[in-house]
Amino acid sequence: MAKWVYSFEEGNADMRNLLGGKGANLAEMTNLGLPIPQGFTVTTEACTDYYAKGKQISEEIKEQIFTALSQLEEKQGKKFGDTESPLLVSVRSGARASMPGMMDTILNLGLNDVAVEGFASKTGNPRFAYDSYRRFIQMFSDVVMEIPKSFFERILDEIKEGKGVKFDTELTADDLKEVIVRFKAVYKDKMGVDFPQDPKEQLMEAVKAVFRSWDNERAIVYRRMNDIPGDWGTAVNVQAMVFGNMGNTSGTGVAFTRNPSTGAKGIYGEYLINAQGEDVVAGIRTPQPITRLEEDLPECYKQFINIAGKLEDHYRDMQDMEFTIEDGKLFFLQTRNGKRTAQAALQIACDLVDEGMITPQEAVLRIEAKSLDQLLHPTFDPEALKSGLVIGQALPASPGAAAGKVYFTAQEAKTAHEKGERVVLVRLETSPEDIEGMHAAEGILTVRGGMTSHAAVVARGMGTCCVSGCGDISINEEEKVFELGGHVYHEGDYISLDGSTGKIYDGDIKTQEASISGNFGRIMGWADSFRKLKVRTNADTPEDAANAVKYGAEGIGLCRTEHMFFNPDRIPKIRQMILSRTVQEREKALNELIPYQKGDFKALYEVMEGRPVTIRFLDPPLHEFVPTEKDDIDDLAVKMMMTAEEVQEVCDSLHEFNPMMGHRGCRLAVTYPEIARMQTRAVMEAAIEVKQEKGFDIVPEIMIPLVGEKKELKYVKEVVVETAEKVKQEMNSDITYHIGTMIEIPRAALLADEIAEEAEFFSFGTNDLTQMTFGFSRDDAGKFLNEYYKKKIYESDPFARLDQSGVGQLVQMAAEKGRKTRPDIKLGICGEHGGDPSSVEFCHKVGLTYVSCSPFRVPIARLAAAQAAISN
Ligand code: ADP
Ligand code: MG
Ligand code: MG
Repeated sequence: MAKWVYSFEEGNADMRNLLGGKGANLAEMTNLGLPIPQGFTVTTEACTDYYAKGKQISEEIKEQIFTALSQLEEKQGKKFGDTESPLLVSVRSGARASMPGMMDTILNLGLNDVAVEGFASKTGNPRFAYDSYRRFIQMFSDVVMEIPKSFFERILDEIKEGKGVKFDTELTADDLKEVIVRFKAVYKDKMGVDFPQDPKEQLMEAVKAVFRSWDNERAIVYRRMNDIPGDWGTAVNVQAMVFGNMGNTSGTGVAFTRNPSTGAKGIYGEYLINAQGEDVVAGIRTPQPITRLEEDLPECYKQFINIAGKLEDHYRDMQDMEFTIEDGKLFFLQTRNGKRTAQAALQIACDLVDEGMITPQEAVLRIEAKSLDQLLHPTFDPEALKSGLVIGQALPASPGAAAGKVYFTAQEAKTAHEKGERVVLVRLETSPEDIEGMHAAEGILTVRGGMTSHAAVVARGMGTCCVSGCGDISINEEEKVFELGGHVYHEGDYISLDGSTGKIYDGDIKTQEASISGNFGRIMGWADSFRKLKVRTNADTPEDAANAVKYGAEGIGLCRTEHMFFNPDRIPKIRQMILSRTVQEREKALNELIPYQKGDFKALYEVMEGRPVTIRFLDPPLHEFVPTEKDDIDDLAVKMMMTAEEVQEVCDSLHEFNPMMGHRGCRLAVTYPEIARMQTRAVMEAAIEVKQEKGFDIVPEIMIPLVGEKKELKYVKEVVVETAEKVKQEMNSDITYHIGTMIEIPRAALLADEIAEEAEFFSFGTNDLTQMTFGFSRDDAGKFLNEYYKKKIYESDPFARLDQSGVGQLVQMAAEKGRKTRPDIKLGICGEHGGDPSSVEFCHKVGLTYVSCSPFRVPIARLAAAQAAISN
């Protein structure tokens, strides 16, 4: 017979997977001899079994629960539902990974109309007994039966008002009896039956409710954000109650062994005298700082400090503890490794190394890689934020805090920025033409678009704060005015944005620059000494590249050349190129672009000082470059000596039904080899000149996108080689260069051994590879993926976290095939995944040479790569 239930005495900290974090730690603390109210844990496997059986608890599990219950009764010397000395329990969720507040807890279970009388006389404290019962009715109704809390809160408020009191604690036993009668009436009204009086029935319903809460919406969202698999399930802890609400020698609180926002050593926490459970966090009364406990109950305080120290030494990490004092006697209800800000995490990890508690490897593992994001962006000055007025809420698309004057067009944003103003760009949505304005802005606010909208993706890449999808805004871009939260803003008015929370504030809130403190450098230094993967960056401009180098990038893994063309003084030339009727005309337009491209590349090479730079040739479909505004069309017509209608016709002819799968990538170079020729010349001349001028050892890496067939690559490669050799000769240089390809079409992955005959390196473009493998586009997936998460078809966004079982298989296969043909082939990844920790771990496992990600994610990737190396 399987074992589904463990008493706290039977478990230990290593049984986390089976007992959940809370259960395993309650068992561990029991073993350490600490004062823990006793109880038992129903395993996570029982939860999985519950779901497997169509949301039924099997008879076997039920029996084991009741057996454990009678053992607990014996231990406590109390009986469930007893009229004289009833056993009361809490029923608490607890998964493998801590998910604070995501699932449910029920306190004081076991009370009914009879037991409450026994409880009252046994404790000699009727007020307390009735208070416990009314709390139980409320929690059971809310958590188990899903009757909204507000019904009960309203009654409580009415009665308090009727009695002329402000706090719950001022209600008398008789008042509370009245509360109970009315609470039960609500229950009956909503459920059609009386409030359950059988404690065993209460218990089984509560256990089921905890199992169910594994699948509530907030838990699902939390899991997705934290990469927690949906099939782990939660354990249920049934624990004898202790009471913090027995009077003024009782209380309850939460405390940390170190400050969770700064990491400073020393007890930090809050407690409330005469209160139960959630009162501390619920903000009903203002809690006291934990140090006040020293005055109120000095013995308890001493004991508390002592045990807190023991727990920290035992777990060798900062602890987050819950405790309750029942009539002068201290109990611990929970301990776990505390959640902390990124800044605190660094401080604590470094301190623990200095205190000799952990090794540098452990310190590196302790930092949540994703959290480093918080450190690299400006934040609001906490004092200034206190008086901030929130006017709206939207999606936190790109982290950081920004405050500035509102501008409605990219051009005006840019001009204002050049005059030295701080600017917030407010747009309905952004498009590639807004790049410069986005660059100039401190923050970007869009009315439309989700987390993967153009604005969001580009802003994250630039490290600029962005809040997207604020549907509450009514905007008039022509009149340059918008309304939000009852406030009206014109051009030049101040607003502030928090890209980490999605909040929008009125006015100009003071921000503070990111401070990359000494701890950051220390941890990153350790990380670099452990990792095997190299970390490059995706950067198109010298500014981005310089930023990335500052954050530790070892090269550029992806330089997209098309972004350079959107600049207002270049786009006309690229348009002329597109409209050209003959090769000669096209070459003439392209030749005019060479100096620009060459200048861009020179600037990049100079910033990168000889570090490798992979330059990808033109990739997007040409229609992205053609004008849509009438004025621009007329301009172009004049330049091309065409009529506006003719220009319009060419633009229309570029329309594609599915541009993602259309005339783009190397297909452009196959049809217009002169584009590849121009780009090759620009790359080679830039490299040779910088090499000659600055002495950097530059080896250009030219990357051909969207290849699906070896002959296709071979064709473009020949064009590139021919031009490159010509430039070498002209400039009398013997520079070496490499030609490689993106692997972003499934066919390329399948035929990677053949393609490697031509390609000297592969870079996995996992954005496109994911689109093409799943068969849906990144821009459209937002519309339906939410339903997929809800229905548990997919658990996470495959564009943010590499789909290791599907897309990952293609990556792994292509890597192996590539190496078979060319053992020294260089392998990298350059999708958004390059900065995602779990994807970085995957890249480590399949033995890629490097990952490449946006500049602000470089530290995340460095740390994730070190963590992968240490744990694999
Ligand atoms: P969460 O994981 O959301 O913190 P918990 O299961 O820890 O949920 O419980 C919520 C609150 O109830 C906490 O304040 C906890 O200390 C309190 N609590 C839980 N079990 C007991 C118990 N047996 N006796 C007294 N208080 C309890
Ligand atoms: Mg809690
Ligand atoms: Mg808790």
